Amino acid sequence: MSQKPLPKSHPRFSSLSQRHALEAGVKDGITHPTGLIAFGRGEAFDYLLHEKTHPFAQKAIAKAAQEIRKAKNFVISVNGNTSALCPREIVQLARASGGKLEVNLFYRSEERIKKIISALKKSGAKKVYGLKDDARVSGLASDRAKISSKGIGSADLVLVMLEDGDRTEALRKAGKKVIAVDLNPLSRTARKASITIVDNVVRAIPLLTAELKKKGAKSDAAYNNKKILRQAEKAIRKG
Ligand code: ATP
Ligand code: MG
Repeated sequence: MSQKPLPKSHPRFSSLSQRHALEAGVKDGITHPTGLIAFGRGEAFDYLLHEKTHPFAQKAIAKAAQEIRKAKNFVISVNGNTSALCPREIVQLARASGGKLEVNLFYRSEERIKKIISALKKSGAKKVYGLKDDARVSGLASDRAKISSKGIGSADLVLVMLEDGDRTEALRKAGKKVIAVDLNPLSRTARKASITIVDNVVRAIPLLTAELKKKGAKSDAAYNNKKILRQAEKAIRKG
């Protein structure tokens, strides 16, 4: 259904390109149709945030970079929306951080996992975990419990994007630190994560990569995720 290319001068260029990326993701079988609905919820929050990265997101990104540097086994969890929206940026983050990539899906099918892995490989990824699941996140009923022992199974730090609150909570209960990217500061994911970046993944992931590449980044011992979420909620209410 994609029509002629969007003019860059269009005031909604970024938002429309993201919609088209997801449309292509559904057509290619990497994004589940319900992913469009999840994206719509995010878009509404992004609109209220004026589609820009706020200082509270920058602070969370700086803290996330610090934790990634300290982590022993950092894993980036990838789903159908993120692999359609920003596959190259995700692979660049994996490279800059030395982290592993693992596909984890709510509507899990071998076919879709294979398609996502090949999309990530086309974007430059080498190894992607997730096809063979030989471990479980306990206390989680959905297929999102299925993980790889060499990936999320042995991770001490996991990055999740457009995630479910119950998996974030289960990962925390399993003793892992969780960084979440979620435009909704009220979601269970945002509230359960150790660090919540309230920003669009298409902006947040390249910023996190850039932060990791910075030399001599300073530490912020006073980081408080609840405060970050309050600031995000305030910005949204202000509109
Ligand atoms: P939770 O289970 O955490 O309460 P939810 O059920 O409200 O979340 P889901 O449909 O499970 O929401 O996941 C989608 C989440 O991802 C929403 O919170 C939405 O705001 C967010 N989201 C959607 N698109 C983006 C995006 N491009 N960047 C960042 N976050 C996004
Ligand atoms: Mg949910």
